[in-house]
Amino acid sequence: MNNQSTTKKLTGKVALVTGASKGIGASIAKHLAAEGAAVVVNYASSKEGADRVVAEIVGGGGKAIAVQANVAKKTDVERLFAETKKAFGQLDILVNNAGIYEFSPLDGVTEEHFHKQFDLNVLGLILASQAAARQFGSAGGSIINISSGASTLTPANTSVYSATKAAVDAVTRSLAKELGPRNIRVNAINPGMVETEGVHSAGFLESDFRKQLQAQTPLGRIGQTQDIAPAAVFLASSDAAWITGETLLIAGGLR
Ligand code: NAP
Repeated sequence: MNNQSTTKKLTGKVALVTGASKGIGASIAKHLAAEGAAVVVNYASSKEGADRVVAEIVGGGGKAIAVQANVAKKTDVERLFAETKKAFGQLDILVNNAGIYEFSPLDGVTEEHFHKQFDLNVLGLILASQAAARQFGSAGGSIINISSGASTLTPANTSVYSATKAAVDAVTRSLAKELGPRNIRVNAINPGMVETEGVHSAGFLESDFRKQLQAQTPLGRIGQTQDIAPAAVFLASSDAAWITGETLLIAGGLR
């Protein structure tokens, strides 16, 4: 008898993590798998990144597959959930992590800037939640939305991005009420600035914005992906069985 597998928190569960080819999503996928969940690693364009995450999980004795889908498109979302069902037969956990951040002063806001972010960060999250709620079994499920500290910090030049994440917080609380009777819990994690591939390529790491945030952060540093992922495991597990509609700020004390 393998003692280890009996003590893992998510043994027998199936999780789908959107945008898991890199950054926060990749770390969450690996942490869920380490606790025994079979994981669907969704990606949009980085097949190589998703394959690396899958290889790491499988190499560690876990179960995972990579599935390409643009979560902002309903047909892709439907295919993603159909492939999840085909591979693992059930679904228990959805992590809505796929998201983009593009900052702009008001004068530079365009329809494209608005729709790109709302289509993925809000519409995509709702479409995936809808598909998950249809696929969860009679025991219910757990939806974890990766929102952002920006939803309440509302930094200058982030009106559209901050609005997408404020919408995510509202969707989290509303769906928690709607889906609670089916034992589907819906919570959000709201990270402060976390060092990821996306943050690197946006040039935030060397920016004054980062210096400013860090200076205002009681714990004196920006986050790493492993500062975030354990909270997703907690919210996915039965340790959080009576927690729903919460937004958990993980930002080194910055608020
Ligand atoms: P990242 O490094 O840029 O990675 C983004 C991930 O999302 C990638 O796996 C990417 O896949 C995927 N993705 C992008 N568009 C997609 C689409 N249309 N459909 C499916 N997947 C898509 O991002 P991150 O920094 O880890 O951020 C992840 C989440 O955390 C986002 O929701 C973000 O708003 C939130 N967040 C981040 C921070 C931070 O400081 N990093 C702070 C607060 C909140 P491909 O690589 O295949 O395109």
